[in-house]
Amino acid sequence: MKLFDTPSQLYVAFEPGPVVGIYTCGITPYDSAHLGHIFTFQTYDLLQRRLEDRGHEVRLVRNITDVDEPIYKKAAELNMPFAALAEQETALFQSVLTRMNFRPAFAEPRASQYISQMAVAVDQLLTAGFAYRLEADIYFDTTKDPNFGLFSGFSDRLQYAFMQKRGGDPHRSGKRHPLDFLLWRGVSDTSDPAAWDTELGRGRPGWHIECSVMAGELLGTPFDLHGGGDDLIFPHHECEIAQSKALGQPQLAKTWMHVAPILYAGEKMSKSLGNLVFAKDLLEDYAPAVIRLALMKYHYRTGGEWQPEFLDEAAELMTECMAAEKTCSLESSTLLLSEVRAALDDDLDTHRIWHALCDFVSASPGAAPDPNAVANVATAKNLLGLL
Ligand SMILES: [Zn+2]
Repeated sequence: MKLFDTPSQLYVAFEPGPVVGIYTCGITPYDSAHLGHIFTFQTYDLLQRRLEDRGHEVRLVRNITDVDEPIYKKAAELNMPFAALAEQETALFQSVLTRMNFRPAFAEPRASQYISQMAVAVDQLLTAGFAYRLEADIYFDTTKDPNFGLFSGFSDRLQYAFMQKRGGDPHRSGKRHPLDFLLWRGVSDTSDPAAWDTELGRGRPGWHIECSVMAGELLGTPFDLHGGGDDLIFPHHECEIAQSKALGQPQLAKTWMHVAPILYAGEKMSKSLGNLVFAKDLLEDYAPAVIRLALMKYHYRTGGEWQPEFLDEAAELMTECMAAEKTCSLESSTLLLSEVRAALDDDLDTHRIWHALCDFVSASPGAAPDPNAVANVATAKNLLGLL
């Protein structure tokens, strides 16, 4: 199959071995899963399903960022312990993914379970001279990595802007370079519950080191594919690569695949803008297969504006499919299955899948019900998670 690889900006052959290691950056559990999240993870679910169809064992790791600043803020607002908030939102997220018929993940590690390994990694970076202390905190020294910025290919100005917008602190004085990023936050306040006692002292890891450590621990490096939303290209994934290299892992992942956002009112869905469509709300009115099919109106690399009418179009197509599969010919069912497989192999071309389904429902019926045709349609629907 072919996938679009972010750093090379090329369609590359994705032909992994029998066991495929995939790591996708997961949610920060402080608010319910919105449609943008579902779209991202559905993309990797489709990939997983096609790889399994091709006979691979897929080890998909989808982490839970339960150690991160937005959770503490939200927990304080709600006056509840941050761990309880993370637990509650993680459970809700997992129940939505189950209802949406996602294939199970190989592992869903929580950052809070890997604190000691993260502290060891930060300590190694300090010892090797790739990190430095700034007051109670520890930063990665990006000047030690001449390739920092090559992964994203973004200009210095853009890197600076994204670092500022996406949780970084380019303005903090005392840093050796504005793009140096936090590895460890020292916490002296003993009443702060989001801190652990480690050889680095009391504190918590920065966001980027969490993923490097969990991916390395669970999959080893290099693993086959790293994914996430395209807003993670910089700084998050650029930083993951720099850290892992400095920790003696020359290549973190062989292929990188990023998903564009679903927009609402012209903007990426986000808590701060208040333009969220929650999966759990849609599930009250629509079958999971209908929501999945509606999201397949968008290609993962372009995303686009959320159009609620896609749900009704998808519901109609699902109804027509269910009617057609009872009377379809072997020929039309074979064509459907081969088109679905070919479309998935072609960089997960979900537009082509919609066309294939429309062609299938408008094809002439067969002379008599054919068990092979029924099996073909079931396989095609299973590949798309539409059962
Ligand atoms: Zn990550």
